[in-house]
Amino acid sequence: MIDPKNHTSFDNHEQVVFVGGEAQGYAGIIAIHSTAIGPAAGGCRIWDYDSADDALTDALRLSRGMTYKNAMADLPLGGGKAVIYRINTDRVDAFQKFGEAVEKLNGRYITAEDVGASVADMRAIAGRTSYVAGIPKEHGQAGGDPSPMTALGTFVSIKALLGGSVQGRTIAVQGVGNVGFNLCRLLSEEGAKLVVADVNKANLQRAEAFGVEIAPVDQIHAVKADVFAPCALGAGLNPKTIPELGAPIICGAANNQLATEADGQRLVERGITYAPDYVVNAGGIINVSAEYLGEAADVVEARVRAIAPRVLRVLDIAKSDSITPQAAADRIVREKLAAARKG
Ligand code: NAD
Repeated sequence: MIDPKNHTSFDNHEQVVFVGGEAQGYAGIIAIHSTAIGPAAGGCRIWDYDSADDALTDALRLSRGMTYKNAMADLPLGGGKAVIYRINTDRVDAFQKFGEAVEKLNGRYITAEDVGASVADMRAIAGRTSYVAGIPKEHGQAGGDPSPMTALGTFVSIKALLGGSVQGRTIAVQGVGNVGFNLCRLLSEEGAKLVVADVNKANLQRAEAFGVEIAPVDQIHAVKADVFAPCALGAGLNPKTIPELGAPIICGAANNQLATEADGQRLVERGITYAPDYVVNAGGIINVSAEYLGEAADVVEARVRAIAPRVLRVLDIAKSDSITPQAAADRIVREKLAAARKG
């Protein structure tokens, strides 16, 4: 496998550890991007990558993304991520071994759920290390499924971008999975009109309870709406979709919505307001952070609601400095990291 330091996605990551192996029954990578602000926190993704190099690419990019997301959300955490790209033993056994690898890092990396992982997997990890979150907690304590908080952060951001109310406004939601479904619930409770698309029929049916209109999967981005909310996969904003976008505002929970940096500029040129994904979708990690730090559940909601004014501030800076919203957000984070490194 390529040396991480020679990889195009390497960004001065502090540590990249290859974990597992044939005898351990699983193979994975833990990438610690930065601990300048605090221990590197970020979920563990289980994915069937085409190659170990693809897994490394994802680990490097996602861990860097976590540094930015955590710093922007004012959490006392750095950025890290784990990917597991092969499991060839009993799943519980594999996750226990992974937990041992996390434990060996002595708290430099804190893991949690991500795509492909479950609460049961986190429980297996927790058998071997305390550096894990994403496990349901006692009543009143923060913890459990982060998706409702990710949805709340997205909802309050949409509301702020629409001047304080979603009543009678049309929101096109791409993907009604864990986050998209909760977002639709919040939007419908406050009188928004919903147009949704999903490749998963069962998830679409579940969303029908909110009186949604259904759009074809390949047309949802082009629906005439007040806001387009990507809540499915990344890279949905690209040279093909941007000319077709039907909403003047983009604000959703999906990670890595811009296929490339140039797409941020393309949106500016089309006069479309883009709320940077990692500013909007921090609700989940805010929840995970509170769980890990043993905080009460009621501190989480106030922190998640603070995402909305942060989004507006990033957009203001972008406008006044004539840069893209993504560039404005990145700059804020780089300033925070530089201040933390100075101590
Ligand atoms: P999920 O897997 O529960 O839901 C994703 C939904 O998108 C599924 O219903 C899936 O069928 C649908 N989908 C997939 N491809 C699609 C397509 N081409 N068109 C329309 N729908 C499609 O995942 P989730 O937890 O709801 O996360 C959604 C997004 O938000 C992901 O990008 C995730 O990385 C990001 N995110 C999630 C959280 C969280 O707390 N869960 C936090 C931050 C960011």
